[in-house]
Amino acid sequence: MKTFKKMKTQALIEKDRKYIWHPFTQMRDWQTDEFPVIEKGEGCYLIDTEGRRYLDGVSSLWCNVHGHRVKELDRAIEKQLKKISHSTFLGLTHPAAIELAEALISIAPQGLTRVFYSDSGSEAVEIALKMAFQYWAQKGHPEKKKFARLVNAYHGDTLGSVSVGGIDLFHQIYKPLLFDTFAIPSPYGYRWKTGGDQAKVKNEALEAVEKTLKEHHEEIAALVIEPLMQGAAGMIDQPAGYISRVRELTRKYNTLLIFDEVATGFGRTGKMFAADHERVTPDIMAVAKGLTGGYLPLAATLATEEVYKAFLGRHEEFKAFFHGHTYTANPLACAVAVANLELFKKQKTLEKLQPKIRLIKKRLAGFRELKCVGDIRQWGVMIGIELVKDKKTKQTFEPREKIGARVIERARKKGAILRPLGSVIVLMPPLGMTERELNELLDITYESIKEVTEC
Ligand SMILES: *Cc1c(COP(=O)(O)O)cnc(C)c1O
Repeated sequence: MKTFKKMKTQALIEKDRKYIWHPFTQMRDWQTDEFPVIEKGEGCYLIDTEGRRYLDGVSSLWCNVHGHRVKELDRAIEKQLKKISHSTFLGLTHPAAIELAEALISIAPQGLTRVFYSDSGSEAVEIALKMAFQYWAQKGHPEKKKFARLVNAYHGDTLGSVSVGGIDLFHQIYKPLLFDTFAIPSPYGYRWKTGGDQAKVKNEALEAVEKTLKEHHEEIAALVIEPLMQGAAGMIDQPAGYISRVRELTRKYNTLLIFDEVATGFGRTGKMFAADHERVTPDIMAVAKGLTGGYLPLAATLATEEVYKAFLGRHEEFKAFFHGHTYTANPLACAVAVANLELFKKQKTLEKLQPKIRLIKKRLAGFRELKCVGDIRQWGVMIGIELVKDKKTKQTFEPREKIGARVIERARKKGAILRPLGSVIVLMPPLGMTERELNELLDITYESIKEVTEC
């Protein structure tokens, strides 16, 4: 029996290596790397073809919310499946998309009133950029066509979203294809050039925002940021007060503010949206990842009535928003998203999350004693543990040392799936993970870091 299972797994792996090109993957290494074949999920565990169980420590790349095989979510899809799986959103509409839009507006920051659907976070950001650009053109300001963004930003992988991104490691090669932006330093306290405490970093980072807006606001359509936590940058957190000041400054200098809540949305920072921590309403907001509870690809770009109204006019004025995808507002995805938002209410997900966030914080404090842990950053259940070679000098590991990859490989052997960002170990457990499971995840992470960096 055991050998049969092994043979089946081996055959699958060989075919994967033969036919598939994986995302963000050096496929030459893939030919020899070991990787599990995930066949099933159960709560917060992933189960491979050999029957091995792993804690889903990064929510299947930041999207899972309540766990896997959640019966309410499974049922919502089954129910929709018996009606229709897909029909177009061009010239037609359907109940699940309408119900979801109403639910989204009811939980979104006050003042966001319109929902534009798409299929991924990258598209939701791409749409936000096009909306901001066209908004100004139609308001009689075609000169406002540039974007400001933070250094180290990540907003997705399509060319527009890469243009407002700033992670050289991913983006450098595509430079010739991208449009120019104004880059503003993000308040990265641990590596702030002139050092200093959080208050100093925050002030200087905000001065940089103001400087850019002051000098260039006449040509800036919008400032786009990931509020509270820059995810793919390596979980770089923003101090309290930062996003509300950014809101004030964008108002003062007459530019739109776009929040990319693709990662931070749906409870990940401890509140429904990162914007809620400071009651900030952006002009446009992109959501995706957690929208369907991590079940199906679906995204949305939310806008204020002010933005929306700039697109109204007579047919022949061609002021409509010219954007849409074949699978826009897919009914199965919308149905499971509705059920996902209902579960937040029914299970009091956000309320139950608060003690878990405190537990994580307490446990993470113990990680500081490890020789190579330089910085620990946390907002809710978004966590980054930055590993350094030397705590005093903050010297980083070399890429060829593959420190992050080695730690997560060790963690996998111990029963947890993680995914690093360079030398930052990321934890992003599903909101539904139990305290017992969280403790297990933190134990595995601690031991894996210790074993790999201190032996
Ligand atoms: C993941 C992510 C995206 C891209 O979303 P996809 O669904 O992968 O296209 C955009 N912005 C942020 C902040 C993200 O974390």
